[in-house]
Amino acid sequence: MHLKLTPRLESFQEEVRTFLSKELEPEMVAAVRSTTTVWVEREAMLSWQRKLSKRGWAVPHWPEQFGGTDWTPMQHYIFEVECARANAPELTAMGVKMVGPVIIRFGSDWQREEYLPRIASGDDFWCQGFSEPGSGSDLASLSCRAERKGDEYILNGSKLWTTDAHHANRIFVLVRTSNEDRPQKGISFILLDLDTPGVSVTPIISASGDHEVNQVFFEDARVPVSQLVGEEGLGWTYAKYLLGFERGGSIKAERLKQELQRVNRLLLSKVRGGNDHFSMKEIERELARLEILVESLSYTEMRVVAQLEAGGGEPGPEASVLKVEHTEIMQRITELAMTSLGPYGAVLERDRPIDGGRFSDHAGDITSDMLPIVPRYLNFRAATIYGGSNEVQRNIIAKTALHLP
Ligand SMILES: Cc1cc2nc3c(=O)[nH]c(=O)nc-3n(C[C@H](O)[C@H](O)[C@H](O)COP(=O)(O)OP(=O)(O)OC[C@H]3O[C@@H](n4cnc5c(N)ncnc54)[C@H](O)[C@@H]3O)c2cc1C
Repeated sequence: MHLKLTPRLESFQEEVRTFLSKELEPEMVAAVRSTTTVWVEREAMLSWQRKLSKRGWAVPHWPEQFGGTDWTPMQHYIFEVECARANAPELTAMGVKMVGPVIIRFGSDWQREEYLPRIASGDDFWCQGFSEPGSGSDLASLSCRAERKGDEYILNGSKLWTTDAHHANRIFVLVRTSNEDRPQKGISFILLDLDTPGVSVTPIISASGDHEVNQVFFEDARVPVSQLVGEEGLGWTYAKYLLGFERGGSIKAERLKQELQRVNRLLLSKVRGGNDHFSMKEIERELARLEILVESLSYTEMRVVAQLEAGGGEPGPEASVLKVEHTEIMQRITELAMTSLGPYGAVLERDRPIDGGRFSDHAGDITSDMLPIVPRYLNFRAATIYGGSNEVQRNIIAKTALHLP
């Protein structure tokens, strides 16, 4: 692995930096800094997506014929790192990194024409309907049904924890089309509009006070069979393909560095912890440990990119390693931020919006940078559960990387 960029890559890095310095607006950066949830506020994200789309960089990992680029893995890496350093909003994965690649690989020509341009431009906002009550880690046990009647499927059942369904206009769902054979074999992958009669979205407010997830209900919702992706009964294959993108599709260490900087700013401010239980020495020691962990995650990411660059194919268990590492370091950073905030946490709590709204303005020693610390701590408890829980990722690593029985 070479750590020095070639002149060609250096000039690409410069091109990305120039674009970011021209196009990234302060409001977008502020939205990233103040976000309490996984994805940044919708309007800021969409404004950024429109700029990327205009430049041809909204879906760089797609094939060129569908609006992507011919970038090498190293160029993708540089692009992600520079966007993170500049605090640019990350595009929500459900369209560009999940359903988009599935439609490209397995969808019909009609689906490609209909959906791909609208995913790239941000005109369509997608959500992911996989999990159900009782079917999360054991996804193959899902029971939301699609019964074929003539040219339509009739959907009944529900999907749980559906991130951003209240913002989305489209949803991709895994549904049961058969109970014969193995559970995996009777699953199909269907695309549908959320305003289809019989579909309703109910909010779930999380411990952090955010409206981020929902339950989506289907009651005799009728969907044309042209909305089926690929073949009936092969949805499990398509879902596994998609989950590879969900787990391994992003570079995260640079974003974690931004989070550590927030803790550093907090420690340098007048508002800082240190209380009966945690001395400043302990806080500083944990900060140093986390800086080392983030740096080592960064090297793991670079190693994976180097493997891809050398033609190593798609990441396998490495995607699980990166998911576990990223989410557990993130949780430790949010814990350290809470500890560093000390009793001031209670002061911030007073102004925390509990309906997904904005923080009220603050004066004095508390800066806008500090306001999201408590809800981010609470929100990121879920990071080791979603995207495939970390226990399940460890099972994958044990089986496929360590070859344990
Ligand atoms: C904030 C949030 C957002 C989400 N967004 C979406 C979304 O947009 N779309 C979507 O489809 N889903 C979404 N999910 C659902 C998520 O994918 C599931 O919560 C996750 O897969 C775990 O499933 P479960 O909640 O049913 O827990 P369970 O599967 O019941 O797991 C309960 C516990 O048992 C452990 N466990 C389960 N099986 C094993 C095993 N084999 N070995 C060891 N331990 C095991 C788990 O790790 C966990 O600790 C979201 C979840 C959250 C919390």
